[in-house]
Amino acid sequence: MNRSKDKELVSGFWFYSFWLNQRPITRDQRPETINHKPETRDQKPSSCYAGIYIHIPFCVKKCPYCDFYSITDHSLVKEFVNVLIHEMDMYRDVGLLFDTLYIGGGTPSVLESTEINRIIEKAFSLFQITSDPEITIEVNPRTVTPESLKSFRQSGINRINIGIQSFQDGNLKFLGRIHSAEEGETAIKWARNAGFTNIGLDLISGIPGQTVKSWLSDLETALQFEPEHLSCYMLTYESGTQMHKDLKSGKFSSLPESLAVSLFGSTGDFLEKKGYIHYEISNFARSEEKKSRHNIKYWSYIPYIGFGPSAHSFYGTRRSWNRHNVSDYIKKIESGTPPVEGNETLTREQQIIETIFLGLRQKCGIDIGFFNEKFNVKFGDIFRETISDLSKKELIVTCDDKCALTRKGMVLLDSICAEFVCSEILNSG
Ligand code: SF4
Repeated sequence: MNRSKDKELVSGFWFYSFWLNQRPITRDQRPETINHKPETRDQKPSSCYAGIYIHIPFCVKKCPYCDFYSITDHSLVKEFVNVLIHEMDMYRDVGLLFDTLYIGGGTPSVLESTEINRIIEKAFSLFQITSDPEITIEVNPRTVTPESLKSFRQSGINRINIGIQSFQDGNLKFLGRIHSAEEGETAIKWARNAGFTNIGLDLISGIPGQTVKSWLSDLETALQFEPEHLSCYMLTYESGTQMHKDLKSGKFSSLPESLAVSLFGSTGDFLEKKGYIHYEISNFARSEEKKSRHNIKYWSYIPYIGFGPSAHSFYGTRRSWNRHNVSDYIKKIESGTPPVEGNETLTREQQIIETIFLGLRQKCGIDIGFFNEKFNVKFGDIFRETISDLSKKELIVTCDDKCALTRKGMVLLDSICAEFVCSEILNSG
C-alpha cells in the first residue's frame, strides 16, 4: 500500500528498477546539522524541510500484486513498536528540520491507535518539526473503525490515505483485497466524520477486464466523496509477486497496451475537467495545498529519513536502506546496532538520470536552471536534437526554464527518459 516509490504507468522498464535500487546513507554518514541548505528544485520554504517516513510492516493478508515489504504474522507487533521507537531515538541528533511525517507500510492501521499515537508523540519529542506539519497515515478500509479514525485525528494526523483501489467488488476480488466496495465507501465517510479534511484515495486501473467506461465509473464514485487527493496507479506485475506468477502461467491476460494507454489518458482528462491538478504521473490534487507534501520530497531531491524494516533514507547524494526483515530488524536494534542494510553515494551519472526521470514525472518538469547549475552543462545545448524531436511529436514542452512531458508524453515516460540519457550528457562535465 505504501506508494512512497510508486509505480508509474509504463512499468517494467529499467528506469523504474533504477529508481527502486537507489538507496540512502548510513546513520554515521548522515548530516550533523542543516547549516547547509539541501539542494532543491523548488525553492519554496516548505520544500527545504526534510520528511520522516515510518514503515509499519504488517498487513492482514498479502495482496497478490504487492511487492512492498510486509508480513501477516502479527506476533512481533509490540516488540516492533518498541524497537521502532528505539531506532528513532538513535537519530535524535540528526539535525534536520522536518515538515512531514508519513506513516506507511504495510498497513499502519493494523496497529492499535494508542501505538500510532505513541509513535507520533515520540517523533515530536525527538525531532525538530515545524508548527504545521503534514502528518499522513495509510489505512486499509477493513482495518479502521469510527473510533480508531477519531483517535488518529486526535493524535495530530491531518491527512489520511485510504487504499480503496476500486469501488467494484469484482475488481477487489481479483486484487485479493480484504475489503468490499461498500467497506471502502464506509471508511471514507467515517474518515470525514472523524474530522479529516485532507483525504487521499488510492485507486488501481489496468485490471484485466476493465474498460475505460468501468474505470471512469470508479473515478465518478470516488469524486462523490470529494477527496482532496487521488493516486491512480496502473496495475503492474512485479517479479516475485503471486500475480506475476499467475500472469506468467496463463491464469489471466494483462490488458492490451493500447487500452492501458487509453485508461491513462482518460484519467487525466476526466480528473482535470473536474478541477484536479495532475501534478505527477499518478497523482492528482484538488488544490496546490493538497498535493502530497511528503511524496514531493521523493521526486525533488529533498532529504528524508526512514524508520522501520525496508525504509529508505536520502540526503544530498547519499542513500541508505534498512533491513527487509522484521526479526532481523528487531535483533539489530536490540543489540544496539543500527538496522541499516546498505548505503551508496550516487554517481554523477546516477544523479543526472534521476534528475531527468524525477523531473519528467512531475508536471512542473525538469528545472533547467537547476540542472545546468548542478551539472555544469547547458541542458538546451546538450539535448537540442532530443528536445526538438520530442517537441515536434508533442511529447514534451519547454518553456519558462522548464522541460515537461505532455499528457501524451507521460505515457512514454521511460522511453523518453532513455532518449535524454545519452552518452553525451553522461560523459560531459
Ligand atoms: S494491504 Fe496489500 S497492497 Fe497494501 S501493503 Fe499490504 S499487501 Fe501491500
